[in-house]
Amino acid sequence: MAAQRKKPVLVSPPSVGDLNAQLVKRGMVAPLLSVIVPVKNEEDGILPFVGRVGAILEGIAVEGGWEILFVDDGSTDATLGAIVAANQRDPRVRALSLSRNFGKEAALSAGLDHARGRAVIPMDVDMQDPPEVLPEMVAKWRDGHEMVFGIRRCRASDGWAKRLTAGLYYRAHNMVSSDKIPENAGDFRLMDRKVVDVIRAMPERNRFMKGLFAWAGFNQASVEYDRVERETGTTKFNYWKLWTLALDGITSASTVPLRIWSYIGALVAVFALAYGTFLAVSTMIFGNPVPGYASIMVSVLFLGGVQLISLGVLGEYVGRILTETKQRPLYVVRDTVGIESQVVR
Ligand code: UDP
Ligand code: MG
Repeated sequence: MAAQRKKPVLVSPPSVGDLNAQLVKRGMVAPLLSVIVPVKNEEDGILPFVGRVGAILEGIAVEGGWEILFVDDGSTDATLGAIVAANQRDPRVRALSLSRNFGKEAALSAGLDHARGRAVIPMDVDMQDPPEVLPEMVAKWRDGHEMVFGIRRCRASDGWAKRLTAGLYYRAHNMVSSDKIPENAGDFRLMDRKVVDVIRAMPERNRFMKGLFAWAGFNQASVEYDRVERETGTTKFNYWKLWTLALDGITSASTVPLRIWSYIGALVAVFALAYGTFLAVSTMIFGNPVPGYASIMVSVLFLGGVQLISLGVLGEYVGRILTETKQRPLYVVRDTVGIESQVVR
């Protein structure tokens, strides 16, 4: 019986793009896009995020590839387990797990340090930053803009109080700081590798990201989007945390609050001089009927208040000098998921 000759199967050689995609998938070549996602107790948010954002990235980073880099910011629930499961399904999902909760700003710094893409996009896991605007952002980046930030067209999902305080904050920040933060722009933005390197090179411990982004400059563009309700989980920011963030933001970006006290002091001194003159003149003309208890109390209390406030402001800055001089690391990585392989950049 004649041995059956197998017909040769014609296989076309893989294209350069396919090869590159395979290498990116195995983590051997840096991808085109990195999405960095700080997460704290978001176990229900991981898989939906990967599904929805992954599908969109697949469409825009066809040849260059993509990665989703989660930064587990000290979660106490099953967030890390969900990330590991996602990584087993798709190795382009990677993660850093921090040793405790360092806060969103530090988690973003960790993400920027470990993201390898030519462009990096920080996103929240709760889908409040709609991934549908990613193609538009990437298109603007390809047009030569190094920073494409998302502008919230409508913040109806945030309560009126948050909208009001956020609006006041942006206005106050931009009044006292020369690095203007675009109003209604959050952390959701695309940054070119050049911008990422500038931000990573900034030595300060106080990482108010929006301020650092604003300082970096570069050729900027924006994309509008509607900020929708959170899909899973609950907000991690209460008003006290937001207030602290606002203080960090202003004190890290501006020294106007320090200087302003010289002007207030001068103003109070001029006022006191005028009032003293008035008292002297009226005593000379009308005599001194009753020694003024009320005027003394008012001026003592007022000046005491002014001094305490100015001391408080000084304290804010001295405290920040202390944190800077300690030079502690911004975050501590406890574990990683899928990012041990060597990278060719
Ligand atoms: N987040 C974090 N560390 C924190 C607080 C929040 O990594 O200490 C993450 C959180 O998991 C989410 C993102 O930061 O992915 C934005 O948080 P959130 O949605 O609670 O903020 P909001 O949208 O309410 O301002
Ligand atoms: Mg949110």
